[in-house]
Amino acid sequence: MPPTPDIVLNDFKALWERIGPSALDAIDRVGRSGWFILGTEVANFERELAAEHGVAHCVGCASGLDAIEIGLRAAGIGPGHEVLTTPMTAFATVLAILRAGADPRFADVDEFGLLDLSAVERELRQHPEIRAIVPVHLYGHTVDIPELSRIASEFDCVILEDAAQAILAESDGTPVGATTVGAATSFYPTKNLGALGDGGALLTNDADVAATARTLRDYGQVAKYEHAVAGLNSRLDEVQAAILRSAVLPNLRESLERRAAIAQRYRAIGNPKISIRIPRTPSTWHLFPVFTESEATRASLQEHLAGHGIQTAVHYPILASAQAAVPTPLPVDQFPVARTIAQTELSLPIHPLLSDVQIDRVVDACNAW
Ligand SMILES: *Cc1c(COP(=O)(O)O)cnc(C)c1O
Repeated sequence: MPPTPDIVLNDFKALWERIGPSALDAIDRVGRSGWFILGTEVANFERELAAEHGVAHCVGCASGLDAIEIGLRAAGIGPGHEVLTTPMTAFATVLAILRAGADPRFADVDEFGLLDLSAVERELRQHPEIRAIVPVHLYGHTVDIPELSRIASEFDCVILEDAAQAILAESDGTPVGATTVGAATSFYPTKNLGALGDGGALLTNDADVAATARTLRDYGQVAKYEHAVAGLNSRLDEVQAAILRSAVLPNLRESLERRAAIAQRYRAIGNPKISIRIPRTPSTWHLFPVFTESEATRASLQEHLAGHGIQTAVHYPILASAQAAVPTPLPVDQFPVARTIAQTELSLPIHPLLSDVQIDRVVDACNAW
């Protein structure tokens, strides 16, 4: 039996020790306000996050999944439309496309796990019926949005970015979501801007997209009791918004810097059996993926680290394109690069509350493998 890990992927108890008092103040503020749904906390949080991220509008939603669906629908994507995305992602990306009523299509990724833009171009050439692209800024690293936008405009496609792992990330110096339909992000507790429960948001510079998203998240209401479209109940909770703006958002830049510093230390891992692949401009860090030679060596590394009290995870072991929940699950051989990542990737702990001693222990354990 390996020891109970003391170096974990996410340390929510340590987080509570740090943010507990300000989170309790935030809850108290909401309670005393007597206003629990879409009040001033959500409105203020939306304004503050939009400003921090560098876009004009932020629309709080109940989850990242919903924010992607709402973003697609706000862009006019729905039944009969095809949407191109990546097989190397959290299944929620694809589920959102299905929930919008559209049909997912897939293109392979590059060695970093990001959509391979030449594969995207090939797919668009072969399937001109594709109307939208959902790139995923996996691990916090950004897809080249200027280049993807050039390709998308040639084929008359819109882009909705999945930035669930990439709040405050930039592509070519511009915030994600700023030049496309928008970017959907998630406040799931493990994410870089994590709430104490579920939440998400659509970040956009497009006032019409923001207005439609506000309608969609609130039963499709355009005025009280007047429903223009069949919307969702997908409002960001007032309590979560209050906690986020009082206890989490103020530390966001600092915690992203800490994640980047941990990533920098992990570059000191010097085991030839562990490959570290970092894109030229990674932007932010959500996960720290390392790659082994095979599925068997990954299992061996994971077991070795567990023996040193270090928790790890795989992002992601099953391609989204192969899941039974998609209408036509595809053989993994269609996406050889994504398949290899699924077999060989291992995520090391990178949460901002890790101590330098703990990080050095991870480096030492990797080097000793
Ligand atoms: C977490 C995540 C989502 C879903 O966000 P939820 O808030 O859990 O619904 C979507 N896409 C990616 C890439 C994610 O990591």
